[in-house]
Parts: sequence; C-alpha cells; structure tokens
Amino acid sequence: MIDTPSPNFDERSLPINMLVLHYTGMQDAPSAIDWLANPESKVSAHYVVTEDGQIIRMVDEADRAWHAGRAHWRGITDVNSASIGIEIVNPGHEFGYRPFPEEQMSALIPLVADIVDRHGIPRANVVGHSDVAPARKQDPGELFDWQRLARVRLALPIPQGRLIDPYWSDGAFLLALERFGYDIGDGRAATTAFQRRWRPGTIDGQIDGECRALLFSLLLDRDAGRYR
Ligand SMILES: [Zn+2]
Repeated sequence: MIDTPSPNFDERSLPINMLVLHYTGMQDAPSAIDWLANPESKVSAHYVVTEDGQIIRMVDEADRAWHAGRAHWRGITDVNSASIGIEIVNPGHEFGYRPFPEEQMSALIPLVADIVDRHGIPRANVVGHSDVAPARKQDPGELFDWQRLARVRLALPIPQGRLIDPYWSDGAFLLALERFGYDIGDGRAATTAFQRRWRPGTIDGQIDGECRALLFSLLLDRDAGRYR
C-alpha cells in the first residue's frame, strides 16, 4: 500500500455504511492520481487500484472523500459521508474502456473484503458510481465483474433462474403499491383500497392486468415528476 495523500476531503456527517466503486476514466494511472491529489480538482477517493494491482491510499477512511458527487442510495443523499470510495484505474468509456486485468481484480477483492468487514457494510450497499448517480455516471461499467464479488459475498449476485415477469406477480404489484404509498400489511385490503380510488368500477380485491397497468402508470409518471 502506497500513501499519496489528497487534500480533498472533509468531515463525515454519517456513519460508514456503503462502498462505492468507480473507474478513474482518465488516460492513465499517474494522471488520475495527480488529479485526485490536486486541490483544484475537488475530487478524491480513499483508494486507487492500478491495473497492475497496486493500492494507493489517498484519504483516511475516517474522513469524507469527494468521489460520489450528487448521488442517492436507499434514502442516503450524502453518499460521500456514508461511504468509502475506491477508484479502479481504467480509461473508461471516454478514453478506451477495457477489461479490468486479473492483477487489478485480485488486488481489489481483498481490499473490498477488508473494508466491508471492518465497517460491517451490507453487500447490498456495495455499489457502482452509476448505481448512485444514474443520470450522470457509467462507472465502473459493464465490464466490471460484479459476479466475481458476488461469489465471495461482497456484492449481490445477479438473480438467476425462476425469473418471472414482474407484471404477472402479485408480490411485485404489492411492492409497487407500497412504493406508491400504501400500507401493504394486508395485501387484499390494500388492493381493494387501490381499486376504490383508481378503478371504482370493479372493487373485488383481485389483482388483475388493469390494476397492474394503472399502478405502473401512476408510479412511473409520479416518480418521473410528471405529476408536479
Ligand atoms: Zn465515479
């Protein structure tokens, strides 16, 4: 582990509960490290992992590094305060996105394991920058091997098998209904209440295609801000 301190940090206002993975998205490692250590850049990360597997420590874990920017995850909007940030060296989509080499992955995984273990970070909170800032970011991107992290329980696995179309699942309807705002402790009562308000012609407590379509439309339009 090499120390290259960055001045770009301040004090955390939340306990550590997340790990955010990035790619550097610059031509090479030295320019990325220079940028992250440059006071002008106003960006930093706790660690940088180079393509040949070196780990550079830039900000103390106790401090709030500036890697996530405007971001959101599970109700947390100050993601920098709640997270550790790791920059994985890769030119990224702008400068020639390429696979992450084995040396890099085999250095990254023990680093992630150690951080997650020391801070008790749930694997559902081991995320990519694009997960927490989907409108702005693409990193670490589709070439990053999340499944490899999942196999050692450091990230959630991609669901396999027994996959069903959510529009045919009552459970998914109820979860969407909860997201919309209803208490779903009694699913049939919640469905009946939904029908009473949105489909008063037939109130039978049965989830059907029309209910699914209505809820989907309501939820999408509301969350997209079309009902201001
Ligand atoms: Zn990033």
